Amino acid sequence: MAQINKNYRKLAAGYLFPEIARRANAYSEANPAVKLHRLGIGNTTEALPPAIIEALQREVSNLAVNDTYSGYGDEQGNKNLRQALVEYYKTLGVTLQSDEFFISDGAKADAANIQSLFVAESIVAIQDPAYPVYVDSNVIAGRSPNFDHERGYYDRFVYLPGVEERGFIPNVPSEKVDLIYLCSPNNPTGAVANHAQLKEFVDYARRERAIIIFDAAYSEYISDPSLPRSIYEIEGAQECAIEINSFSKFAGFTGVRLGWTIVPHALVGEDSAVGEIRNMWYRRQCTFFNGASNIAQAGGVAVLSSEGLKQSRKVVAYYMENARIIREGLLSLNLKVYGGDNAPYLWVKTPDGIGSWEFFDKLLNECQVIVTPGAGFGPTGDNYIRLSAFGHRENVIAAVESIKTNLKLEGF
Ligand SMILES: *Cc1c(COP(=O)(O)O)cnc(C)c1O
Repeated sequence: MAQINKNYRKLAAGYLFPEIARRANAYSEANPAVKLHRLGIGNTTEALPPAIIEALQREVSNLAVNDTYSGYGDEQGNKNLRQALVEYYKTLGVTLQSDEFFISDGAKADAANIQSLFVAESIVAIQDPAYPVYVDSNVIAGRSPNFDHERGYYDRFVYLPGVEERGFIPNVPSEKVDLIYLCSPNNPTGAVANHAQLKEFVDYARRERAIIIFDAAYSEYISDPSLPRSIYEIEGAQECAIEINSFSKFAGFTGVRLGWTIVPHALVGEDSAVGEIRNMWYRRQCTFFNGASNIAQAGGVAVLSSEGLKQSRKVVAYYMENARIIREGLLSLNLKVYGGDNAPYLWVKTPDGIGSWEFFDKLLNECQVIVTPGAGFGPTGDNYIRLSAFGHRENVIAAVESIKTNLKLEGF
């Protein structure tokens, strides 16, 4: 008799984005003539630049001829892409070996799968609010006995609150934990951990033999040169941190699909030898994964070329100008606005402490603007909404104008 993995039943019901879609659709049905503005989506919208399109097309043409056709590549990813990443990290002052890189078809799957390297009893620490995959993958793996509906938290997980007073960057755990998920620049808050804050986590992890899983998917959105783009900019991090990154937000590859994970040889847990965890991830990928698309990988090499970087960074700058427009518009209404300077997300405090779903409904009904309620990322997010800077400029401007003109803050 086949029995199901009952951990799936523990996943908290009412996933965020379907609920947003349900409310937006209900509004549209009641008001069919009204056009909705979307500031909620974490998805890229701008066309890929020419240097990358050319590389993708060239690789497609290579597949048309026997002499240049390629089938399966290296399990870890094509050597020229891994070498290009080695060079990219050198520009951050970080020295890594090409066999410490594992090319994937995106960061989300790696972020979900990486927990399989660790024992089921591991105590997991997660930022609150956070990108949902860290929590959900560990629930499915059985690391929480149940969801506490009253508190809004999974039992046994250690939540690290990102609160306003600390610029939304959490403190290190006050207890002993085994795995720590960190995302900087952060989705959803847009906050970026500075060198000293990351060093506290690295020091904690080395002291406790814990392992940090560092999601750097938005590292290319950092413009402040003092802020770390990789956790390996912190001394000692190669002993205690895995870094996950992606071409999705970096270079508009959300649909092309390409990412990478770094598992350094030096990484050690409580009971592992030097190199062992890296070798386990290699083994895991060889068994469960057959490599990223050769077309996507050719595109990735082009992104990392000097022309590709220049062109991709122009697209990033376009989104960051959207972020500036959103921030100025909301600040003019005296709303409290965070993030959006080194990340494509703005974290906006709800007026008068109302709940994030209440503010969502208010923006939908009064301004026809769709945002993302902070509660969807964890209980600490409940007095905030997330606004995304991804979108065509004219749509962003129209959404901000609608908020400025129509939002009723009187009596709030
Ligand atoms: C968008 C995003 C990713 C990227 O996932 P892909 O699977 O590479 O598209 C990873 N982490 C965070 C926090 C994100 O917001």
